[in-house]
Amino acid sequence: MTISCPRCNSQHITTRHYGSKTGSAIGAVAGAAGGAAAMFAGAETGATLGLVAGPVGSIVGGLAGGLIGMLLGGATGCATGHAVGRQLDEQVLDNHECLDCGHTFHVPTAEQ
Ligand SMILES: [Zn+2]
Repeated sequence: MTISCPRCNSQHITTRHYGSKTGSAIGAVAGAAGGAAAMFAGAETGATLGLVAGPVGSIVGGLAGGLIGMLLGGATGCATGHAVGRQLDEQVLDNHECLDCGHTFHVPTAEQ
């Protein structure tokens, strides 16, 4: 699929992807925040489970539970944010820019 500028008909078009970049960043932050909450929950669960194995088990269990919660939260948030941002790019934002005249325009089904 070849995209051409609606103003000057140039085919020197670049995509901007502001939405997906912004979405990824916001999603990663939100995910990390959610991950932090999951971290405490995971740490608590891990510590409780670890208690069976004694004090050392409690500490190790808490660390492992917290780490897993944080990693999962960040990765999930980033992926979700990127997906949402990409939808924004494709549906809402002027996601294409002409390199010759600087005109920005919207292509509904953008080739990625
Ligand atoms: Zn143009």
